[in-house]
Amino acid sequence: MSALLSVEELDVHHGLLHAVRAVSFEVTEGERVALVGANGAGKTTLLRAIAGAQRASGGRVVLDGEVITDLPTHQRVRTGIALVPEGRRLFPDLTVEENLLVAGRRRRDGPWNVDGVLEIFPMLTKLRARRASTLSGGEQQATAIGRALMTNPRLLLLDEVSLGLAPLAVDAVYECLGSVLGHAATVLLVEQDLARALAVADRVICLLEGRIVLDLPAAEVSREQVTEAYFGIR
Ligand code: ATP
Repeated sequence: MSALLSVEELDVHHGLLHAVRAVSFEVTEGERVALVGANGAGKTTLLRAIAGAQRASGGRVVLDGEVITDLPTHQRVRTGIALVPEGRRLFPDLTVEENLLVAGRRRRDGPWNVDGVLEIFPMLTKLRARRASTLSGGEQQATAIGRALMTNPRLLLLDEVSLGLAPLAVDAVYECLGSVLGHAATVLLVEQDLARALAVADRVICLLEGRIVLDLPAAEVSREQVTEAYFGIR
């Protein structure tokens, strides 16, 4: 099967710091890929570079054959890439529904609408008129994922959806995410929790100091193997 996303020899710098180093991988339509690695390994930087929120200093990002490396974020949204950023970044003074609708202004044609998002995240139904700043972390995360879905993405990028959430909220968000994945989205997700990453993903990519040190099907990799790659133990 041909790749939906190709990342080719991608380099990203933060000033002098070489955060992503000649990273290459492909994601096939319908695949769920977990990106793991220690703090500072470059996971967020890589996701942001794919989404256009961070400029690449070398290499290419290709979506379904179209080179999008130099497209600004809003144009990448139209090509079908949606990022759920670390920290969620909702508009705090807008309601849940308004946050969803704002994202929907820059969308590809497709099936997602507010009612569809509320069906997937029933916890948001009674909160649709509430300001985002008054929501719990889990509710904010659900809104942030819903906002990404409103753009009708072909590729959903999720950055640490469980970060800072209480364990029960993590369970709730992952349960709803299961329904999202049931809609056949192609997903690249950063997840610190290895057990969750291995449970949800078809494939695991591990970054160490900006380089890929492991890229294997989740079914063929053990937790020990990933942990060793994570810490650079050979
Ligand atoms: P974490 O799990 O802590 O989010 P990560 O794997 O996502 O880690 P990045 O956040 O991509 O890693 O960071 C990679 C490297 O780039 C780190 O050394 C980090 O300090 C640095 N870095 C990230 N963002 C910036 C920035 N805006 N300016 C300067 N350096 C940055």
